[in-house]
Amino acid sequence: MNNERSHALFSRARELIPGGVNSPVRAFKSVGGEPFFAQSAEGAYLVDVDGNRYVDYVGSWGPMIAGHAHPQVLAAVSGTMVNGLSFGVPNALEVTMAERITRIVPSCEMVRMVNSGTEATLSAIRVARGATGRSRIVKFEGCYHGHGDSFLVKAGSGVMTLGLPNSPGVPSSLADLTSTLPYNDFDAATKLFDEIGSEIAGLIIEPIVGNANCILPRDGYLQHLRELCTKHGALLIFDEVMTGFRVALGGAQSLYGITPDLSTFGKIIGGGMPVGAYGGRRDLMAQVAPSGPIYQAGTLSGNPVAMAAGLATLDLIEVPGFHAELERRTHVLCDGLEAAAREAGIAFTTTRAPGMFGLYFRQGPIETFEDAKASDTARFNRFFHAMLGRGVYLAPSAFEAGFVSSAHGDAEIAHTIEAARVSFGELA
Ligand code: PLP
Repeated sequence: MNNERSHALFSRARELIPGGVNSPVRAFKSVGGEPFFAQSAEGAYLVDVDGNRYVDYVGSWGPMIAGHAHPQVLAAVSGTMVNGLSFGVPNALEVTMAERITRIVPSCEMVRMVNSGTEATLSAIRVARGATGRSRIVKFEGCYHGHGDSFLVKAGSGVMTLGLPNSPGVPSSLADLTSTLPYNDFDAATKLFDEIGSEIAGLIIEPIVGNANCILPRDGYLQHLRELCTKHGALLIFDEVMTGFRVALGGAQSLYGITPDLSTFGKIIGGGMPVGAYGGRRDLMAQVAPSGPIYQAGTLSGNPVAMAAGLATLDLIEVPGFHAELERRTHVLCDGLEAAAREAGIAFTTTRAPGMFGLYFRQGPIETFEDAKASDTARFNRFFHAMLGRGVYLAPSAFEAGFVSSAHGDAEIAHTIEAARVSFGELA
């Protein structure tokens, strides 16, 4: 595989951009080697600047649920941008977006658009603190909620990939206000709330953990957290930046039948443009400025082009049966990978939710962060490169979920399973 142009770009980038990338996991640091630079993308495929073509299971880290460069999304963007790129006054698409999100996610009675998932989670905990008058936040080991100071405590995603669970630059006085819990441990949560429940403003969780690979909640676990929060007057915040509109149209909260007080979104609702959102109970969201005193703002928030891309994507995924088909394809892929590993005698398992999956080089079950961490990451890294060499791009980290889109058809999935069969054979 020729990587000349990517290599030249990475050399230039490293001089001027920290690590050569604008977001850490893109640098391939944990899997080794150098990243490829994208030239274009279409459907399930990414094409790099050297002309190599990959079946893409990263999907821009989640937004591309309908595939790259979907004609309907591109048409919405180009039809909107001719009227101007940003207005700094309200536009109609923001209202349509708010109506759409609140209809699809009933726990969101009001919603505010922002520009990233990080902004959404930062804003949500500000609302939790402002509304409760309490300061403490509870999060889970291995969950990633963006790069806000309060969240860089035992975080997942890039911080975990790089082995930096905490970050210099976060004042300890702030980090001390974040308590962490082991995901899927009922008793640990009960104990923490019994001890300090009256100090807790909000508990934030990825209901399905997609930033420590892909870990699903044990039966009744999310309901247990709901009950603890209600009992102790803390707000339950579902971070659905990754799971929202993916694992079900209404997100993980509809899949598991839980009503959080606040929710955060991003990725899919921007259709590939920089977008986030937070929303929830009307009495809470009404406390956000200017209707209330909790301040939060954004020059580009509700950007018309971003709203158009997001709304066009939502149009595509609201088609009846969309998520059932996404789930079917996820199973075909994961079953195929597991069968190929078995054939090669490799210890391997997958976890799945509709449209997302985790790959582990160990036997299952995978129910906790410790289970996920015990995966053979050296083996994953070799597998990653073996697959890349066969035109399949998996997330460049053993601790990131993969994504299936509606553009991943039978041919792409069959190619992936065949590539895995040969790659597992090499690892054996
Ligand atoms: N929350 C979750 C669950 C995420 O997966 C991410 C990003 O991957 C974020 C928050 C942060 O979003 P962003 O990268 O758009 O700031």
